[in-house]
Amino acid sequence: MPIQTINPATGKVEKTFKEISLDEIYDTAEKADATFRTWKEISFVERSRLMKNAANILREKKNEYGKILTLEMGKPITQAIAEVEKCAWVCEYYAENAERILAEEIVQTDASQSYVRFDPVGIVLAVMPWNFPFWQVFRFAAPALMAGNVGLLKHASNVQMSALAIEEIFLKAGFPKNVFKTLLIGSSAVECVINHPKVKAVTLTGSEPAGKKIAEACGKVLKKTVMELGGSDPFIVLEEADIEAAAKTAVTARLINNGQSCIAAKRFIVVEKIYDQFEKKFVELMNKVVIGDPMDQQTELGPIAREDLLLELDQQVKQSVAKGAQILCGGNRLNREGFYYAPTILANLKKGMPAYDDEIFGPVASLIKVKEESEAITVANDSLFGLGASLWTNDIEKAKQLASKIESGSVFINGMVKSDPRLPFGGIKNSGYGRELSHYGIKEFVNIKTVWIK
Ligand code: NAP
Repeated sequence: MPIQTINPATGKVEKTFKEISLDEIYDTAEKADATFRTWKEISFVERSRLMKNAANILREKKNEYGKILTLEMGKPITQAIAEVEKCAWVCEYYAENAERILAEEIVQTDASQSYVRFDPVGIVLAVMPWNFPFWQVFRFAAPALMAGNVGLLKHASNVQMSALAIEEIFLKAGFPKNVFKTLLIGSSAVECVINHPKVKAVTLTGSEPAGKKIAEACGKVLKKTVMELGGSDPFIVLEEADIEAAAKTAVTARLINNGQSCIAAKRFIVVEKIYDQFEKKFVELMNKVVIGDPMDQQTELGPIAREDLLLELDQQVKQSVAKGAQILCGGNRLNREGFYYAPTILANLKKGMPAYDDEIFGPVASLIKVKEESEAITVANDSLFGLGASLWTNDIEKAKQLASKIESGSVFINGMVKSDPRLPFGGIKNSGYGRELSHYGIKEFVNIKTVWIK
């Protein structure tokens, strides 16, 4: 794939980047490792000060950075600005909490003193996706750098303007050169970076196929990985739910980020007693969504990030329809400039259809009718993925019981799934392993070291 920014709202090439050579990759890794030797000795107070500077820059320039995100991958500008603000939040969270979370832990044993330290590991390589071009990177970088590691970023080929802007933010914030560095490389060069002896760990946020490739490459050289992969989150609506609120949130949960979020609700599983009521409201609200230029403040749904992804999405819909799925609204590419797809709801879904089995990355909702709540849980778990889940009922005690039966990394009751720096984030099954955010996330890339004194 060429390293290019193509504006998905117009299809026009905005910028082309030259890939760096193998020698340059090795040189960057050597310099990053040399920087690590000094960076790990810097106090938490100083690292915190720099991370707060980064947060301030993000807040001050949120409109400017928001425009880069929207230009590169088409998310509505209001969501792009909110993403930049959320990055400031994660920087502040780790600036304020890293020292406390990574403090030595004293353990009473037969020693005169024994305790656990959390030492940085060195270079962490981050392979990142285009769908949240700033957020995915900051949620890896803020904890990794606060722990004393250094970061190398291989960003998705279509969002290199974002990648370079992030590198510049860390430099402007006062971080030493090479603490955080963007590598302008395509996916075929990733294995060379993984194999570099100074690279100690790898974090990937991306699709399941990319996860399998990168985990395999890391396995060959025994490097630790965290995998944040795809999802097909269930959104379960039970009889006692507030149907209006559920339908309204269903639209946002499916269409946020133009339908291209790993934790977007994708399979809407509704019990038959309230199915017709929910379906009517859901279709009505989907038809009201404002589609338009993502730079326009009023736009709720913009284009798909790349044309190949739009064509793949259309194929998934067509194949599902050929196998018996019913289109309740949408179901087609929009006849306009850019890579737009209509807000779509498919019903009559069954196993064997892409809209039931696979991750659908676009504004397409899969609506599934079930008899009662035990079948709802069975269908929710009938997926290769296990990232998030949303459950709607006013019976909270029942919801808490059902939450334990859902196979996923999170369950949100009467709300849509979202990430929060204070809460762990990640999946099970083919959605990956390891956790980001909170105290769990920062401990993924540290050496948990026992010290024992006689
Ligand atoms: P992707 O195609 O897997 O790409 C992700 C990153 O991996 C990009 O930097 C890509 O580089 C690189 N890559 C792809 N194939 C590779 C390979 N064989 N070897 C080495 N590197 C490779 O995913 P995407 O289309 O950017 O993002 C969408 C996917 O990410 C969805 O499945 C979504 O659910 C998932 N996602 C998960 C989370 C989570 O937290 N669980 C969050 C956001 C997104 P190139 O761009 O150069 O190909």
